[in-house]
Amino acid sequence: MPAPAPPSRQQALGAARVLAHQVAALLGSDVKVLLSVHDNRSTMISFRREPPLLRLRVHHLFLEAPHAVVEAIADYAGRGKRAAGKLLDEYIAERQERIRAEARRASALSTRGACFDLAEVFDRLNQLYFQDTIRARIGWGRNARRGRRKSIRLGVYDHRAREIRVHPALDRPDVPLFFVEYIVFHEMLHQVFPSARDSGRHVHHPRAFRDRERAFPRYAAALAWEKEHLHALLRR
Ligand SMILES: [Zn+2]
Repeated sequence: MPAPAPPSRQQALGAARVLAHQVAALLGSDVKVLLSVHDNRSTMISFRREPPLLRLRVHHLFLEAPHAVVEAIADYAGRGKRAAGKLLDEYIAERQERIRAEARRASALSTRGACFDLAEVFDRLNQLYFQDTIRARIGWGRNARRGRRKSIRLGVYDHRAREIRVHPALDRPDVPLFFVEYIVFHEMLHQVFPSARDSGRHVHHPRAFRDRERAFPRYAAALAWEKEHLHALLRR
């Protein structure tokens, strides 16, 4: 049975707001909870207390936790009650099957190339520019066709699967990191600004998309690099 897809960005945002609010309410009015959601199963839940701030990072499975588990999160992360961790462990253990199934799906995508780790790039950009709200898998595209071609798609975003693929021609030591970042940033923007219809025409990159893209710090450098090296990428 295929694993259900992780929640969409909109779903996760809504549920995260509710969860942050619930935890804050349990801890008292002077506590502010900053919650971010991830799909990383190695650290299901982590936190940092910087009073009055509580920074909380949870696996998306906690977004659907029943009230008793939410209370345990507040006790564990907010009040330092280690005993509450037991209920959290149980909650996670009961969902191991699903976590593993999701991980199997995710591992079908390879993120670590010879030169760049796309998961690392994605996580960094997500924190820096999207407040950790982009929900997508990422991986290198497969079996690049060798030889001459007329065009090359360096990145692609699949809305339905919430999946970003980056062309393996970029996994080379002579490709600068900022260019890979630019490609990934561009595909992440597709989740924030889906293509729209404008007077009957399908606009793949709406104006808001373009504006945000231009705000990328190395935007001009990335375009210049692409222009200068595209012919070499096409030959790979
Ligand atoms: Zn695009």
